[in-house]
Amino acid sequence: MKIFRNPAGLQKWAKARRRAGAKIALVPTMGYLHEGHLSLIAKAKAKGADEIVVSVFVNPVQFGPNEDYAAYPRDEKADLAKCRAAGATAVFFPTPANMYLDAHSTYVVEERLSQGLCGARRPGHFRGVCTVVAKLFNLVSPDFAVFGQKDYQQAQVIKRMVRDLNFGIEIVVAPIVREPSGLARSSRNTYLSADERARALAISRTLREVKAGRIKTVAAAAKAIARAGLKVDYVECVDAKTLEPRRRIAKGCCVLAAAYAGKTRLIDNVVV
Ligand code: AMP
Repeated sequence: MKIFRNPAGLQKWAKARRRAGAKIALVPTMGYLHEGHLSLIAKAKAKGADEIVVSVFVNPVQFGPNEDYAAYPRDEKADLAKCRAAGATAVFFPTPANMYLDAHSTYVVEERLSQGLCGARRPGHFRGVCTVVAKLFNLVSPDFAVFGQKDYQQAQVIKRMVRDLNFGIEIVVAPIVREPSGLARSSRNTYLSADERARALAISRTLREVKAGRIKTVAAAAKAIARAGLKVDYVECVDAKTLEPRRRIAKGCCVLAAAYAGKTRLIDNVVV
């Protein structure tokens, strides 16, 4: 498994592999890898990639000033071991300084799908995501990239960016990997106390009820999550493709929730 820390080194290698006819997959992550991330690597393998590049970068540009950039968990050694075991062929571990050179002044902004939901609560978040993903795409020129449905809005925004800017990269979206309790796996789960973790189950439980038709409105869903002692950031129903708000929960909708367990912001969603 190759390890790159410099964008230029990665780009040179990827170009050579491409010239040699290799099918290249990219799996962008912020590290502190868990089974959700590993499922994306497995997906890349199953789709027949010859090279699977995993990037591990806590991207400062996608964090707001009052968010958890500094506290975000990092464990390079464990991530390397997990990538190797999962079948990645290259890992990219850049530093903020070599991703964003002095006086970096170019950004990628998607202006429609990124407006609502997390985009409305985290100003500048998707500008940071699109910018870093565009940079990774340019460095690796993958045939396809794998993202998780866990970040539903992110996957839709990236698909739109790829379409609008003619990246010519297939975007594959893999299902949400959950703990046996139902809790969606997330690097941020490590922040949770035992009590918060127990309360957090209300999010996936509620979304399951929504999908089963036992909870029929987003207001009722928000109430159920709040009852467990979480602070609801939003529960919304949108068209699964366009992310336009939908009044009624029905087929073709995605119901997304964001809520705080203590200081930890958790997100989850279900497609109905
Ligand atoms: P992150 O490191 O949290 O930025 O996530 C990197 C990628 O892994 C994103 O495409 C996420 O959607 C995906 N991912 C994170 N958690 C999960 C999960 N529980 N199931 C599936 N994909 C996930």
